Amino acid sequence: MKVLVAAPLHEKALEVLKKAGFEILYEEYPDEERLVELVRDVDAIIVRSKPKVTRRVIENAPKLKVIGRAGVGLDNIDLEAAKERGIKVVNSPGASSRSVAELVFGLLFAVARKVAFADRKMREGVWAKKQCMGIELEGKTIGIIGFGRIGYQVAKIAKAFEMNVLLYDPYPNEERAKEVGGRFTSLEELLRESDVVTLHVPLIDATYHLINEERLKLMKKTAILINAARGAVVDTEALVKALQEGWIYGAGLDVFEEEPLSKDHPLTKLDNVVLTPHIGASTEEAQMRAGVQVAEQIVEILKG
Ligand code: NAD
Repeated sequence: MKVLVAAPLHEKALEVLKKAGFEILYEEYPDEERLVELVRDVDAIIVRSKPKVTRRVIENAPKLKVIGRAGVGLDNIDLEAAKERGIKVVNSPGASSRSVAELVFGLLFAVARKVAFADRKMREGVWAKKQCMGIELEGKTIGIIGFGRIGYQVAKIAKAFEMNVLLYDPYPNEERAKEVGGRFTSLEELLRESDVVTLHVPLIDATYHLINEERLKLMKKTAILINAARGAVVDTEALVKALQEGWIYGAGLDVFEEEPLSKDHPLTKLDNVVLTPHIGASTEEAQMRAGVQVAEQIVEILKG
């Protein structure tokens, strides 16, 4: 049996596939044209957030039985086309939750204490001490929108920083909220009350541009917005306006409506935003867990 690994995969995950006796075809991020050629005789495909497994790719893979996504979001896979063919789609939810949550705090500190800005100035030979007045987290309120796997990890860390935790989720898990000392509230109250707003929702119709002009205006002028979910959860144009006009203090963004973000994008011109290139899950630990979990499921499906 043949497995196409179309994205970087942890060594330990490749070992799982090899041990099962599968032939591995490895090509990093092929485009659709190339993917169509590569899938002709494979039993399984493994991807990450890239490449896109489109209907056309699926239609050109007659032996395909399973698509593995090493990670969480499945928005790069045509789930409808897979379902029609009875192709299973497996992923590794939870494998990167802690890593994403830790990056949220990396971004948060970078914005709150102007770490990235200060570093840029240092390299220009500027001692920007006066411009680097920041804000502390202790006693501040963090509003977590989407209290799932990542939201829960964020809440646990926030609790350790002695922050107050507000939560918004249409499917509230009260037990977990109690565990982290969090309180569910309406989206509007969360936006009005929070010093930090962090997004951990999936990108679905209901969350597209969830944070728009109107909702940004509800936030405190001193608030920080963190987006490590999906770019399109935030209306970027409105966010740029908010950052330029000081509706909020700053933002930390790991995801963008267009990835990669172009060098000339207005966000890159602003000092009150910290940008990272979609690295939420980019840790040794998360990659290992994500790859191994997906490889093990593929072995089970193909051999079972
Ligand atoms: P999850 O499914 O465990 O949690 C999502 C939560 O959002 C659920 O509790 C759900 O009820 C809630 N939700 C759904 N619709 C909502 C709405 N309209 N308003 C508020 N809450 C809503 O998912 P997760 O593992 O916590 O991941 C969250 C998102 O993080 C993923 O969908 C993915 O887009 C993103 N992610 C980003 C990175 C990265 O590298 N930055 C890595 C992994 C995941």
